[in-house]
Order: sequence, then structure tokens, then C-alpha cells
Amino acid sequence: MARRSKRSDSEKLRQSLITLLIDFEHKLNQDNLREQVQSLMPAHHQLRDLGSSLIHEEDAESAKGRVLAYLRKYPATLLHGDELMIVAGISEYARRIRELRKEMGWPILSGQALKDMVADGDLCANIDNYKKVKTDTYYLIEDRQDIEAAYRWNLANEIRKSDQSVKIKILEYLRKNIGKKVTGEELKYLAKDRSEWARRVRELRTEEGWPIMTCNTGMPELAVGVYILTEDRQAKVHDRKIPDPVRIAVLTRDSFCCKKCGWNPEKRNSGDKLRNFLELHHIEHHVNGGKNEEDNLITLCNVCHDDVHRGNSSEAELFKLIGVNIKI
Ligand SMILES: [Zn+2]
Ligand SMILES: [Zn+2]
Repeated sequence: MARRSKRSDSEKLRQSLITLLIDFEHKLNQDNLREQVQSLMPAHHQLRDLGSSLIHEEDAESAKGRVLAYLRKYPATLLHGDELMIVAGISEYARRIRELRKEMGWPILSGQALKDMVADGDLCANIDNYKKVKTDTYYLIEDRQDIEAAYRWNLANEIRKSDQSVKIKILEYLRKNIGKKVTGEELKYLAKDRSEWARRVRELRTEEGWPIMTCNTGMPELAVGVYILTEDRQAKVHDRKIPDPVRIAVLTRDSFCCKKCGWNPEKRNSGDKLRNFLELHHIEHHVNGGKNEEDNLITLCNVCHDDVHRGNSSEAELFKLIGVNIKI
């Protein structure tokens, strides 16, 4: 049972804990197991109280409130489960995290979801930090409560039950949430926690051409662990099958800007309603033998991309834009 913490007096708790431990020396010498265990009980409770007394926020009266306060104090930081246990003051804090995530819409990733993303190379910067992720780790993606999350979790629950492949379920879920930020945790849930979810997301993007954006595949302003299907359309067949490392290299070379008009995702809210995202275009079309390589790929916004496909730019012109000299 959760015990209510006496959060105002951490120092008193600390002192009484020391006294208890000092007294415990006698018990240790007496060699009476039952008495030893019983005399540790108050120390055990006081240690818990001391942990939960450390959170001073107004809403920290419940274990859930304290876990949330702690996560919000350290967003985008890998936190060990034991840290949450200490501030919660209870050992069953994991259920509180599920409630925070599914009922209240806090975007909290589990260590397993992060591990799945790491295994699939689906993380940007600081990748070394994330390599050390343990299963018993939690990560608040950003300090933003998503009021639509509860609705989405219900939808995820419905789709999860259906008798389809993981890839189809993920696609269906994303297509019902066009333009919305969804978290890796939701996608993992759809896959019934099987770690293949991260690979399926990548396949949907690279092989089937769905514009599923992450911080390293077209929308650098997104937080780690966030996915957005930006539009309900697949890339043209010849622009599919670009491996993510190549995609990232091209976007980086082009500074995440359209090479024709200079648009970048930071300008998304600047009044240009037509330009929404960046795509990669094969200058020499894939079907004609064009390679999935940096020297044959150019970053374009969706408007310029459509324009190029209407035949308004020559291959030579596009190669010049990316600084590749080719004799055609
Ligand atoms: Zn453009
Ligand atoms: Zn194209």
C-alpha cells in the first residue's frame, strides 16, 4: 500500500533513519533473525518516506503525481526505474506510468521502445547515450501533455486486436492520425510489444514510400521517439527503397532544405500552406537505373518535387544543385 509521505520534513526523516540504523547494530549482534527483520521495517518505511519527501511540488501528494513531477523535471532524459520508485515511494510505480501515458497523455517511452529504436538505427544525435538504454528505463519525450492521446490509445487498442500483420496495423494507425505526433510507445503497443515494430516503420517509409517523419528522416525539429505520417500518400514508386542511412546523409548534406526553393521545415508555420515536408528525389529515376546513392538524390519540398515530376527541371540542372558534375 502506498504510504502518504511526510514531505515537509526530509531532514527529520534522515535523522530518524540514522538513529534506526545505529540501533540496528545491537540487533545484528543478537543473531535473532525475526527481530532483525522486524526492526528494519521502520527503517524501510522511513527510507521510502524520505524518497517521496524530496518532491515538493503542490501536486506531489500521490505516487502518480510525484512520478510525473520527476519526469517533468527531467524531460528528454533517460531515467532509471529505481529513481521513479524512490520518488513514488512505492514499488508498483509502473502501473502509474501506464496511467500517465494512456489516460493523461504524457509521452513517456519505455526502455524497451528505445531499445527497439536503437536496434533499428531509428534515433538521431546522441546515439551513444541511447545505446546504454536498459529495459528498466523511462524517458519523457517532451514536457507536453497530449490531450488526444487517450483517444489514440483506445484506437490503438482496437487496431491491435485485429488479425493483421504488424506492418498493416501500424500503417492503419498512422493513416488514422495524419499529421499527428504519435510516439514509438504507441507503435510498439500495436505490435503487441514485439520489437519488430521499429523495423516495420522503417520498411513503410523506405520500401513503401509512406512519408513517416522522425527527427532524422525529414523533420529535425521532432523529439526523439516521435513519428508523424505527414500525408496520406505514398512516394512515387521510383523514390522508394532509399535506405535510411542514405536518406539521412542526403538530408544532412542538403541542410534539411529544399535545394530548389530553400524551404525547410522550420518555415512550416510561416503561411505557405502548400509546402509541408521534404522528400528525396532520384535525379536519374530509379526505374531507369538511377542509384540509391547520395550523388543521385536531392532534397526537395513536396511542391518542388511535384514540379520536378511535371518535367520542369532537367537532370543536369538538379545534379548541378547538389554539386555533382555529370556529362549527360
Ligand atoms: Zn522547394
Ligand atoms: Zn521524385
